Amino acid sequence: MGLSKFMILEEIKSPYDGAVQGEVPVATLNDIDQALIAAQIGASQWRRTPAHIRSEILLKASSIAQSNVEELALVICGETGKSISEARAEAARCAEIIRLSSFEGSHLYGNSLPLDANKGTGLDKIGFTLRQPVGIVVAISPFNYPALLVLHKVAPALAVGNSVVLKPARTTPLTALIIAKYFKEAGLPENVLQVVTGSGASLGDALVSDPRVRKVSFTGSTATGKRISSISGIKKLSLELGSSCPVIVLDDADIEHATDSIAIGGYVNAGQVCISVQRVLVDKKILNDFLDALKPKVNAIKIGDPKKNETNVGTLISEKEALRVEKSISDAVKDGAKLLTGGERIGAMIKPAIVYDVNPKSSFAQEELFGPAVSVSTFNGLTESLALANDSIYGLGAGIFTKNINSAIHAARELDVGNIHINWTPLWRADLMPYGGLKSSGVGKEGIRSTVAEMTEEKTIILHGQPW
Ligand code: NAP
Repeated sequence: MGLSKFMILEEIKSPYDGAVQGEVPVATLNDIDQALIAAQIGASQWRRTPAHIRSEILLKASSIAQSNVEELALVICGETGKSISEARAEAARCAEIIRLSSFEGSHLYGNSLPLDANKGTGLDKIGFTLRQPVGIVVAISPFNYPALLVLHKVAPALAVGNSVVLKPARTTPLTALIIAKYFKEAGLPENVLQVVTGSGASLGDALVSDPRVRKVSFTGSTATGKRISSISGIKKLSLELGSSCPVIVLDDADIEHATDSIAIGGYVNAGQVCISVQRVLVDKKILNDFLDALKPKVNAIKIGDPKKNETNVGTLISEKEALRVEKSISDAVKDGAKLLTGGERIGAMIKPAIVYDVNPKSSFAQEELFGPAVSVSTFNGLTESLALANDSIYGLGAGIFTKNINSAIHAARELDVGNIHINWTPLWRADLMPYGGLKSSGVGKEGIRSTVAEMTEEKTIILHGQPW
């Protein structure tokens, strides 16, 4: 889709063993301009395509994705280094996101306006609202869920009639290209979806600041999100950014249940998840019991060759990232925290770690780790736990473990985050639910229905009759 014209090629390698997974073109600024010219043509045609036809094409793409789960999983596993079981779980959700988007995209309802309730207007007028696609959407996605985070933008955008220029992460373009192929095979017209591969640092400014683009949908780091919001100009922006998610374990919590879910929520995808558990806040009274229960569960996580079925967690996205995480853990220990288990690096892998006695104000707790380790700090009582949980520039997700409904309701009201889980960690998402962060974790919501709202514009129409 608009790729053959790019001349320079770049190899994509496995972070596990360096094996070449494929090669992709490195786009230039001229290619971006050409892609946007084509996207204008695509947007003009696609917005005039009836919703039932768009929906039919999306449903076909959904069925193609469903038939190719294993193919997609192998590509995800190969270029990210995540375990094949995690890659299969990711690939298996793709068809569903496209199906849900097809449904929501064909339900663009408006409102009828009770104009006569407004003094000075009468029954001679009728007002209503009409939703329409925004035009060209630029979608920029990160490496950690190269299929899901692409589809959370592309599928709703296409479903409502936009054209899309997608810039996937430089490390994971192969997954994005396969997904684009599914839409093409399903009959999506030319110019409606284009994938530009290459460096975000070189191409990003041109993509996000171009006045032909009406909507930028970005998922990635808070630093890149700040850059985008400073230069994008007047257009719609969705920013799904970083975090350091807290989980509170009150003294009445079911410790087995809490540690079962933290041993998942802190380590899935080697901790490279925006909603990964990072700051575990445990009531002082139960700290020893909590650590005793958590340690064997974390030690049981098998790291290793991502392609093997028995591997639970594979590599980080690169050895450079693993070196960064290894250093963060050793710096935390130098600052006085204690390493209970893990933290050793093997190439691009880090053994799942638990670090406790962490000062909640330290950089180990406050800065996004994006690696397979949790920091454990203590508190005295619910009020202090909520203050500690909110003591962060981020506000994406949080969890609280308690058997007390009053504590749960109190936390739901007071935690300043976008998604709150009672008796589970923030590492949980249904693709249709509203999903997005507060504070430096971003602006706007994803989740199919929310994305449909963000990728459409609302017009108000008034029919002016004559008084009778
Ligand atoms: P990143 O470095 O910000 O990159 C994300 C995307 O932005 C990539 O496609 C990247 O391209 C591109 N990019 C880089 N510089 C750019 C610029 N100046 N203008 C426009 N685009 C630019 O983030 P990452 O390391 O891939 O992903 C990890 C981050 O994503 C973490 O902070 C994580 O919390 C966040 N995340 C958030 C959510 C959420 O829903 N809130 C979900 C997943 C991940 P290149 O790859 O070519 O550099």
